[in-house]
Amino acid sequence: MIKKRNIIIANWKMNPTSLEEARDLFQKIKRKTKKLKRTEVVVAPSFIHIPFLSKLLPSKNLFLGAQNAHEKDSGPFTGEVSALALKQYKTRYVILGHSERREMGESDEIVKEKIQNSLRHGITPIVCIGEEERDIEGAYLNKIRTQLINTFSGLQKKFIMDCIICYEPVWAIGHSYKDSLSGTDMHEMALFIRKTLSEIFGKDFGWGARIIYGGSVEDENARDIIEKGDVVGFLVGHASLEVEEFSRILNIVDEEKKEKKLKIKKRR
Ligand code: PEP
Repeated sequence: MIKKRNIIIANWKMNPTSLEEARDLFQKIKRKTKKLKRTEVVVAPSFIHIPFLSKLLPSKNLFLGAQNAHEKDSGPFTGEVSALALKQYKTRYVILGHSERREMGESDEIVKEKIQNSLRHGITPIVCIGEEERDIEGAYLNKIRTQLINTFSGLQKKFIMDCIICYEPVWAIGHSYKDSLSGTDMHEMALFIRKTLSEIFGKDFGWGARIIYGGSVEDENARDIIEKGDVVGFLVGHASLEVEEFSRILNIVDEEKKEKKLKIKKRR
């Protein structure tokens, strides 16, 4: 796992609305990503901007992602876009099971079908899981466990290993860094996710899983979470629309990977 690079996904959601703004933002991010050495960056714009932005690729460290992909390749599914179609526009990643889509009725079972189909087309799923709220008794952990079981059981094991798991507590989305999870709390959650995956699918799956964090990542909390949280990156919403702030997050994550590598070298 350590050999793989860190990863940051910019979830632009339904922003920006004009092609000019999307192009401008993408170009600025492209310039910032060129300097990174150990981090890859994925921009997930609105579907409508993907074909145009794909013409600005390839670029060092920068990839295109989608915010969703249908579980079927084609057919009578009004308003949907398939992984097969996205693949034609250099889409390498897809965010699946985001809480804003689950609110529209997307179940764990549908997310599982989407994972299968995306992987079939060589698109890496960023699978979002997370509880709506936390309770002192810890019932929220059952929710995470259930999501993991429902989403991944029955999938071929190599499929599970190809996914990136994004822990994104719904209560932390769209606020400020002050309302997000701390690095130590993320570390506990990462342990829980790894333990659960190990119990269900075997040790390799838990300890080898690539986990990232999402939910109000800003430059103020990025260092704490990447250093202590046992994650390999972030899903970034609102802060990915602010080039300078996003760039500071990228640099923090890139630097962390360098420090981690140095520590490992010293230990040997
Ligand atoms: C998101 O919803 O995927 C997200 C990361 O949003 P934000 O950073 O704005 O909380």
